[in-house]
Amino acid sequence: MEEDSTATMVDDSNVSQAGAALPVEAPVEPAASPESTPADAVTPTSANAEPASSVPPAEPSNVPASDVLPPDTTASVASPAVAAQIQWIKGGSERVRGKSQTHIVLWKPEIAVEAGYEASLEQIIQRAEGVRFSSYGTPLPTGCDEYGSTKELFTLVRKTIAEQALLPRQASSLLTHYVLSTWFPDALPLAPCLEITGSAEDGDRVLHTLRDLCRNPLLMMGVNLTNLQTIYWDPPPTLLFNEPNLTKQKVAFLGCSTRRGYLHGKWSNYKDYYSSKAIYLEDMPVGRKLQWSLQVNATSSTATRMAPALSNSAVVNIQRQLLFYRISNLIKVENSAFDAPDLPADIRPVANALGACVVGSPELQGQLISLLAPQVEQRLADRSSSLEGMTVEAILSLSHQGKSKLLAGEIAIEVNGIAKARGGRLEFKPENIGHTLKKLGLFTKRLGKHGRGLVVDQPTLIRVHELAQVHGVGLDVDEKNLHCLLCAENTRVM
Ligand SMILES: [Zn+2]
Repeated sequence: MEEDSTATMVDDSNVSQAGAALPVEAPVEPAASPESTPADAVTPTSANAEPASSVPPAEPSNVPASDVLPPDTTASVASPAVAAQIQWIKGGSERVRGKSQTHIVLWKPEIAVEAGYEASLEQIIQRAEGVRFSSYGTPLPTGCDEYGSTKELFTLVRKTIAEQALLPRQASSLLTHYVLSTWFPDALPLAPCLEITGSAEDGDRVLHTLRDLCRNPLLMMGVNLTNLQTIYWDPPPTLLFNEPNLTKQKVAFLGCSTRRGYLHGKWSNYKDYYSSKAIYLEDMPVGRKLQWSLQVNATSSTATRMAPALSNSAVVNIQRQLLFYRISNLIKVENSAFDAPDLPADIRPVANALGACVVGSPELQGQLISLLAPQVEQRLADRSSSLEGMTVEAILSLSHQGKSKLLAGEIAIEVNGIAKARGGRLEFKPENIGHTLKKLGLFTKRLGKHGRGLVVDQPTLIRVHELAQVHGVGLDVDEKNLHCLLCAENTRVM
């Protein structure tokens, strides 16, 4: 496996395992007074605390605090009338200097723990270990627990997301659909990629919340394909990326790896990076989009209650329920018949994958379609106002006027008219239109001395009408296309 070796970074290996107390010859503190104990160092309200007390004592003491605290220090601490019982329990590592400048050791001093707060220290130590060894810190279930119904589990996850990431209902619901999908990538035809937008702080909050809830999560700084090759991939992790600079190559990686079969690597060592992924990005490069993705804006809502961070045991508790949900429903997700036929072709498979993961709940599946509606509208609007969309609209309009040949320049004039009417400032040239036609699969040819253009024959007309439907342009029945049979046909299909 990966990094599970228990390496202890110590310059002096002879004393690194000392644990509770330093060896006699270890740190010598010239400034430390005999009274300065760990209790002084962790008592910020003590007015008498000398600066020297913030460094480790010459001879750390295991004596309970009440026995070593000077009486005046105790008096100055703003504590309740009845002092809570303090125990001293061995904590995590401190890096301290010994008798010489080059003598550095790891020391595990005892920590003052009020009765009833023992679990807090345990949690702090576990968290610190998780920082050093990623698999120690990765939230994982310890087994399985009953989750009630799909709706009950959905509500638990949604409320957790709303409270931890401060999100309104729509965003937290969409994220819940994503979270559930991360537990079933092996039963889905595609693993939708979640694209998180918003401020850096909002993105960070969402990524950390997802880390507590997704299956086998790995929170990564940036998308680095070389590093991903070294990750243990059984089972595939849910990769959560914070990536401010999304290059064209990374967009391709994220998009392709939502589906099985795309390989990356070198000869005889190819890897399929198919797995659930989420990415926080500041800005999507202009003109690009992540294929098979789901967008969620993470702008926090002040109306949402801010809850304390989830404890380790709370995370394990939810993870146990999610694992039971997975093993109870894996086969049902694999055989799901859920379909959202009314959604556009680039969103429908994403909706189908997410809908398959809310097993036995038509109510949640119906809500999912409504949750996706703004994305559908946005994509249609983006598409119809893109150069491709406007070019199709221009060709459709000109061909409805009965023209059989369209010069690129003629189409450019029409496109510029449409763009201007919508408040656009760009002027498109015939060359731009030529490129766009090629992209749309409409091929131009030389039309005499006037330059290149499009011959509007029947196959071209059919293609243009299909493209108009895809881009959501120009198919509303009006006086221009009243007698167009292809428009009438498309209206019936829609
Ligand atoms: Zn028509």
